Amino acid sequence: MEEIVLGVDIGGTFTKMSLVNGEGDILRQTVFSTHSGQGAEGYTDRLINSGKELLSTLSGSLIGIGVGAPGCDPETGYISFAVNLPFSNPFPIRNFFEENLCAHTVLVKDSTAAALGEKMRGGAQDMEHFALLTLGTGLGSAFFMNGRIVEGAHSLASEMGHTTHIPDGRACSCGQRGCLETYVSARGLQREFMGLCASEIIPSTLRELPESKRTAKVITQAAKSGDLLAIKALENCGDHLGIAISRIIHAWNPEGIFLSGGLTQAGDLLMDPVKRRLKSSLLPAFQNKTKIDFSHLGTTDTGTLGAAAQLFLVQNNGNHK
Ligand SMILES: [Zn+2]
Repeated sequence: MEEIVLGVDIGGTFTKMSLVNGEGDILRQTVFSTHSGQGAEGYTDRLINSGKELLSTLSGSLIGIGVGAPGCDPETGYISFAVNLPFSNPFPIRNFFEENLCAHTVLVKDSTAAALGEKMRGGAQDMEHFALLTLGTGLGSAFFMNGRIVEGAHSLASEMGHTTHIPDGRACSCGQRGCLETYVSARGLQREFMGLCASEIIPSTLRELPESKRTAKVITQAAKSGDLLAIKALENCGDHLGIAISRIIHAWNPEGIFLSGGLTQAGDLLMDPVKRRLKSSLLPAFQNKTKIDFSHLGTTDTGTLGAAAQLFLVQNNGNHK
């Protein structure tokens, strides 16, 4: 019988569940809104029912459940810092799945799941040393080095988003100032654009829009249509990203760095300033050694694939939790 894992991707907007085989094929998938409007209870009911529904179609043998979530602690099995999720904090998500769906469950950070998905089916399949940055509402990161995810002494490694990028800079949701994610993320792009609106006299079609309408998506679309202020905001954002990436390259010497998340919709408008910054910031020995690329996987697949991959890894190596 084919071995199957249920991969679960708990996101701030959507929750995705997939049945995944050992080859990384998604056999069946279901997607629903994380905020159905019925609070924590409605959401947990939905998780169980959708999980059971998927499992009722199972033709192989279920070996476990892999769950990827933001703000979670893979060691304790809790989602402990879930600002965008309808859970009470903290929520014992690992036990919840084990008890309700009766299967061995592992929990991974959402960024780790994205990196494992990239390794399993994306652009990192032949790489043993790579990093992945998720550029969404915030900035997530994962490091896959020497053939495995870097977890650190307390499973807390790779919190790049909250490293100080500019001392005493922009206020961050974590309570600190100047964190990288306040400059490089969808929200970071919005803040960059607002700052430029105030400090520059460059014309922009978006100046008339109320602040709430100037989302990263709108700014990116405007930049693609040639809006000079929006282009400048993306350029600055890409430059900050380039600085962060040059630090990663100097520290880790990876084969590749993959970028995923909504901000990557900007394409070359984001990538070009990154490459310019790398040209000026990297030591000669590091120039042109690391491939900088967008994720090869669509956003629908990455999370559930990666969460499932973690379960397969545990099963095969026994060296992951
Ligand atoms: Zn922060």
